[in-house]
Amino acid sequence: MKKIVDTIIVGAGPAGSQCAYNLSSQGHSVILLDYRENIGNKLCTGIVSSEFENFYPDVSKFIYRKAYSASIFSPSGKLLKIKRNSPQALIIDRESFIREIAFNAEKFDTKLKLGRIVEKIEVDSKFVHIKAKYKGALEEYTSRSLVLASGFGSRLSKMVGLDTPKTKIFGAQIKINFNSIDEVNVFTGHSLPKGFFGWIVPLNDNYSYLGVLGKNNPKEIFEHFCSNLKNRYKELNFFNNVDIWGIPVSPSSKIFSNRVVGIGDVVGQVKPTTGGGIYFSMRSADLASQVLSEGLTSDNLSEEFLSKYQKSWENIFKKELQIGQLARFFYESLSDDEINNIINYLFESGVLDKEISFDWHSELVMYAFKTKILNFVKSPMKKAVQKVIYSLNK
Ligand SMILES: Cc1cc2nc3c(=O)[nH]c(=O)nc-3n(C[C@H](O)[C@H](O)[C@H](O)COP(=O)(O)OP(=O)(O)OC[C@H]3O[C@@H](n4cnc5c(N)ncnc54)[C@H](O)[C@@H]3O)c2cc1C
Repeated sequence: MKKIVDTIIVGAGPAGSQCAYNLSSQGHSVILLDYRENIGNKLCTGIVSSEFENFYPDVSKFIYRKAYSASIFSPSGKLLKIKRNSPQALIIDRESFIREIAFNAEKFDTKLKLGRIVEKIEVDSKFVHIKAKYKGALEEYTSRSLVLASGFGSRLSKMVGLDTPKTKIFGAQIKINFNSIDEVNVFTGHSLPKGFFGWIVPLNDNYSYLGVLGKNNPKEIFEHFCSNLKNRYKELNFFNNVDIWGIPVSPSSKIFSNRVVGIGDVVGQVKPTTGGGIYFSMRSADLASQVLSEGLTSDNLSEEFLSKYQKSWENIFKKELQIGQLARFFYESLSDDEINNIINYLFESGVLDKEISFDWHSELVMYAFKTKILNFVKSPMKKAVQKVIYSLNK
């Protein structure tokens, strides 16, 4: 007879792997399915806050670099530096870190099944039924509950009654053989259209990531950005094809249903400002697995019971993400001249001397909006931002 497990998790990224670890280390049986053979290797730069290490100390084994400073290039080409005495961010080997979480889950009662493409999910009054393809053959799995952690753009969310994120952006990135910088470089404006920013992030040895993030046509914009960068760094050498992947920047309005919870990118648990989702997806996995573990133990996996997950999630993240969305909307509206003026003002006024949390941006965003930065933009934008701030403060 087919074994019925407590939970099937679809997706072994940071969200799904962390959830598998939590649930199985609490005594629940888990099957963790992913179509990748190399889990964790999806397109990502691997920057997390230094605060991340307090929550997930194992990350210390996978740090390429600690970032104490960053160079920001304004559209006019002016270089502005942010420097701190303590590390602000960690640049990590994301793939090895995620793989270790999944392998640690296997030490408990998690069965890791890779190369499985989940194609169909049905939920009835007692069980979750899953059909997956493995090397061309059909496999069937049954569980008491489901964690959907299948990442950006997954069509599985509709099958199980979860809402999909409405707003998305795209990242384009390559790994390059380049060691001329030793801190994160961020580029705004010049060759990049409104709302985009670009980066070079040094890893270890001789490698760096080079990428852009924004709304449309990431491939063309990336290519244009690279040819412009070559004027600055003659030694830049592109030998890889660019990879492109999406990032949801608005959270789903419903992240649970009967026997089901959704975590991570699939339900838009990402910082809208930078598109960073490792920290948020793992923290969300912690919240989801706590509620799910209680539900499994008390045999209450009803929609009503699992709604506790959304409530606890919203208590911590909702306002943060709303303010992040406001900051993104504001940034997308800015012309190069407006960015130049705002960046100059932020540095000269000392606003950026304030302690910055790399993961929690809302405090800095609201603080900045209370300064004179709105004086540098056209008045309809000023009014729109003031209106949103007013409604957020109500
Ligand atoms: C260019 C770029 C740079 C980024 N840089 C950063 C960064 O520096 N820091 C940061 O915090 N975040 C960054 N992010 C975002 C971050 O990568 C994601 O937010 C994070 O990976 C989300 O984790 P997840 O577990 O929800 O989804 P994912 O990591 O996408 O994992 C989902 C998993 O589900 C599997 N899957 C999907 N569908 C199926 C199916 N039908 N059957 C079986 N398996 C399936 C996939 O193979 C995948 O392994 C970046 C994103 C991009 C695009």
